[in-house]
Amino acid sequence: MAENIPAVDYLVLGEDPHLEAHECQQCAALYFDRRNACARCSSSEFTSRRLSNEGVVRAYTIVQRGAKSGPFTSVVVELTGGGVVKANLLGVSDPATIHPETKVRLVVYDVGTDDDGTVAVAFGYEPIGA
Ligand SMILES: [Zn+2]
Repeated sequence: MAENIPAVDYLVLGEDPHLEAHECQQCAALYFDRRNACARCSSSEFTSRRLSNEGVVRAYTIVQRGAKSGPFTSVVVELTGGGVVKANLLGVSDPATIHPETKVRLVVYDVGTDDDGTVAVAFGYEPIGA
């Protein structure tokens, strides 16, 4: 049985994949990386907080890669209820159809399998209703 591991440590896999951030208990700033102190208020008290799987596109960049894999779209997504995350936009064949305010939801996908059969799983976003 292959094992799945998240490509980034703030991605939580399982029945209901989602992102989890560290929230400052003092000022509610959100961080994906582990910090000793909050950059905004210097508090060192953090709790884990589950982030929404839905949000809206705030910015996007079409990244031209090799001819083989084609261009992909990098988006900055503002999550419902807080949190901003950068990821790839999936499920869009024509990047010209993307615009700011596009509603998106989190999707996970396999990025590769190592020799032991461990599957690395990354996340991206796809438009809702597309
Ligand atoms: Zn803070």
